[in-house]
This record gives sequence, structure tokens and C-alpha cells, in this order.
Amino acid sequence: MTSRMTRPVARRGRLSAAGPDVRLLPLSRRTPRTAKAVSGVGPVRTCVGCRATGPRSALLRVVVATDAAGVPALVVDAGRRMPGRGAWLHPDPGCLETAERRRALGRALRNAGLLDVSAVRRYVAEQQGMSGPGQIPAS
Ligand SMILES: [Zn+2]
Repeated sequence: MTSRMTRPVARRGRLSAAGPDVRLLPLSRRTPRTAKAVSGVGPVRTCVGCRATGPRSALLRVVVATDAAGVPALVVDAGRRMPGRGAWLHPDPGCLETAERRRALGRALRNAGLLDVSAVRRYVAEQQGMSGPGQIPAS
């Protein structure tokens, strides 16, 4: 239970870029029922692809890393402990595709440049190959 102490992802400061993800819930209404339900499930994250929420453990954490040449690229933070800003994504090729089309990853990671998603795509494909029927699109 020590993981509750650290909160690496700051949910503030994404007001302009977040779009429909921004929630404006008045805090004046106190609904302990809701708060209890949320805390019972554990940390919940929003997939940048399909925008659905899911438990932290069900989503991949994607971060920006730089290779030896200093070129930024997206990588999957499999241990969910790498420093910096992270984006959350279902291990689903469809979610990755949607996130790419919307540039949601770059937006979530505050990186306006072109990011190489090949490492993430490969990771997702491997996940699918292990659990799914093995239909990896040859792109
Ligand atoms: Zn998703």
C-alpha cells in the first residue's frame, strides 16, 4: 500500500488540451457513496484512445524516451514506474490507432513533435498475440 504515497501524474494543467476529458464537477455536493465506490476500485486511468476508463493495472503506461541520438520516441513503461509524464492506453491496436489519429498521445505527453510509436505498436501486437486469436495486421 505504499504506492498510494506517490502521485507522479499531475492531473492539473491540461485544461486547454484535454477537450472533452475535462470534468467540471461541483464539489459542493457531497456524495460519499460515489467517493467510496471510486476508492474501492483503486486507481482509475483514462485510455487516450477510446477515452474509456479502466483500472490502472489494465492499461499500458506510455512515456516519451529518447534514443542514443536524442530522438524522442514512445515506449511502453511496462513497470509503470518511469519518471515523467505518462499516457495511458489499452493494450489494443484499435486504441493505439485511434490515439495516433487524434494525436492524443502527443497531447497527453505534452509533446507536439512527431513521435515514433513503432515500439508501442510492437508491444501491443505482442500482447494481442499472446492473448488473442493471433490476427496481427501486417502493416
Ligand atoms: Zn482504449
